[in-house]
Amino acid sequence: MKKIITIGEIVVEIMAVEPGHGFTTAIPLVGPFASGAPAIFIDQVAKLGQPCGIVSAVGNDDFGVLNVERLARDGADVSAIGVHPTAATGSAFVRYRPDGNRDFIYNIRHSACSAIGLTPEAEKLIDGANHLHIMGSALFFDGIVSAIFEATSRIKAKGGTVSFDPNIRKEMLELPGMRAALSHALENTDLFMPSGAEIFLFTEAMEEKLAVAELLARGIKVVVIKRGADGASYFDAAGEVFVPAFEVDEIDPTGAGDSFGAAFVTCWLRGMESRKALTIANATGARAVGVKGPMEGTSTMAEIETFLHNQGGAA
Ligand code: ATP
Ligand code: MG
Repeated sequence: MKKIITIGEIVVEIMAVEPGHGFTTAIPLVGPFASGAPAIFIDQVAKLGQPCGIVSAVGNDDFGVLNVERLARDGADVSAIGVHPTAATGSAFVRYRPDGNRDFIYNIRHSACSAIGLTPEAEKLIDGANHLHIMGSALFFDGIVSAIFEATSRIKAKGGTVSFDPNIRKEMLELPGMRAALSHALENTDLFMPSGAEIFLFTEAMEEKLAVAELLARGIKVVVIKRGADGASYFDAAGEVFVPAFEVDEIDPTGAGDSFGAAFVTCWLRGMESRKALTIANATGARAVGVKGPMEGTSTMAEIETFLHNQGGAA
């Protein structure tokens, strides 16, 4: 089986219990939860039984232990997660606003994540991998960017593949080096997985079909657009396959895109037909939004099969 790796942040997430604005007064909190977009992605890949690992770093503290034990238990290779001797594990405090948007306080850039880079353990993991998943939100730090560059060239050189989820807000585009890192990722991407309007991040076209055509003409083999509660679409040279989302109560949307991406990439690498892969990925995303906590809604294949069975259809 092909081994999937990703490179990026591992953090804990601590959530306000009640919706509201900000953190300027004492409020009930719940957590820590294992988190970080690349970590959620790789946990979901591991739960599907695919060989996988992550290049990352945590602090020498309980938040690090919580994350590493969780990823190891679910089956991910944690050998390239460094332990920073002094800096704490990254963290994110999140509070849902009454309108459903989120307020965040991040401690990532100056956390143990600052040590993520091309360590000997990272090189070993990269050299044993067949597929790299690039999470755009991880490109905030030079060490991560250069490790991703190196992993991209080594994996592509031996015939491996790259998937890319931009997972980025427009404001982040103007961070130093971000555009160059995103463009490099796009140039090497086989499978591009934007959500909604992210499809237009790199295109001149501002109409979806034209934007997809533009991306495919640049050498990307497959584009998958995540459409939240509407479902997802798969595009390749042969056209579009759309699969609607499952109807579920949305309890916590955090992690849905990462879990969806992990399921789709895994199914794609297993050579699964596009409609079936989208159905499994939609089911994985639907299960993720139904659970509070970013990584708490990841699924095993048995759980996905049960979900599909209860929804009245097999993939
Ligand atoms: P994230 O906030 O994690 O970055 P995203 O924008 O990358 O998310 P979404 O499109 O929100 O990704 O969600 C990914 C997939 O999860 C969707 O394509 C869909 O299959 C599923 N999903 C998301 N929200 C819902 C929902 N409310 N009901 C059912 N399925 C959902
Ligand atoms: Mg996303």
